[in-house]
Amino acid sequence: MTVTPAELIRPEILALQAYPVADAQGLIKLDAMENPYSWPDELVTEWLATLRDTPLNRYPDSQARALVQQMRASLELPAEVELLLGNGSDELIQLLALTLAGAQGERRVVLAPEPSFVMYRMVATFTGLDYVGVPLRPDFSLDTAAMLHAIRTHRPALVFIAYPNNPTGNLFDTGALREIIAATPGLVVVDEAYGAFAEASFINALAEYDNLLLMRTLSKSGLAGLRLGYVLGAAHWLREIDKLRLPYNINVLTQRSVEFVLRHRAVLDMQAGWIRQARTELQAGLTQLPGIVTYPSQANFILFRVPEGQAGAVFNGLKYQGVLIKNLHPVGGLLHDCLRVTVGTSAENRRFLDALGGLL
Ligand SMILES: *Cc1c(COP(=O)(O)O)cnc(C)c1O
Repeated sequence: MTVTPAELIRPEILALQAYPVADAQGLIKLDAMENPYSWPDELVTEWLATLRDTPLNRYPDSQARALVQQMRASLELPAEVELLLGNGSDELIQLLALTLAGAQGERRVVLAPEPSFVMYRMVATFTGLDYVGVPLRPDFSLDTAAMLHAIRTHRPALVFIAYPNNPTGNLFDTGALREIIAATPGLVVVDEAYGAFAEASFINALAEYDNLLLMRTLSKSGLAGLRLGYVLGAAHWLREIDKLRLPYNINVLTQRSVEFVLRHRAVLDMQAGWIRQARTELQAGLTQLPGIVTYPSQANFILFRVPEGQAGAVFNGLKYQGVLIKNLHPVGGLLHDCLRVTVGTSAENRRFLDALGGLL
């Protein structure tokens, strides 16, 4: 028998595009919200020493007990808050969707503001949930009335709110967020992927809402290569999600390395401080360029708008000069003429600003 993908695979999947990752070889990489700093040599040496006797022939601890214990202490989690680890928070988004997916034919909805993190929609689509995006206001604030209306209409099983939001960089209004959590019949996941660069967190609200989960990742604060994300929330929710987790999702090198990093947290904290400082400088530099509109950011990136119709040319011009950022104009909607630049080192930001200035 011969069979084609079109005969065997759902149309929604055939219509998907694989998550696009640009080739950054040889470029200054300001496209993916990575921390641009490495570690001091002594620290690298010490880290490698801890990996020396890591048994690669054995499966990792499937519960990552030592790591979880250390993270709990480091986050000063109260006993009633449970913690679940994922292979990046991308995996946790997928696990949450799989856990809440309805039975065959039953309509289950994932809802999020738009624009936001693209993975919410992608994961909803391939796990068979319906996705509802609710447009933000033109200034990228939450349209509370529209959100509440959509929640009443669609009764979502799962709401994702990135706080700060990606790709816009802003923190949503706390009061609006609380109204949304209170009105949602399903789970609300506040995604604090950029928490290290923000002055606010919803962690203290966990105790107040039965349907609130908090998601974080170590990716943006300096460990993107290790892939470690986590969800915080009540044990009775996380226990169910944990059943769908593949047993060895956190590999042994990641477990050992993050245990090491947590003993040297000051390094990442210091780097986050440098990034926040560089963000202020980058924001100021962008503001001085003619025709650029920037948006306030509590994250490690800045969204900015160029004069109408120029986003493609600006993106390509920067790339030609060796600087890779993200062109969001093709996404359309509120992101027309918008690009997003990750905060790099001071030198990288200077190179970017000089190149951009020359293009305008
Ligand atoms: C980058 C990002 C993630 C995914 O992070 P990983 O832990 O690297 O999978 C999740 N949420 C938001 C809002 C992000 O921007």
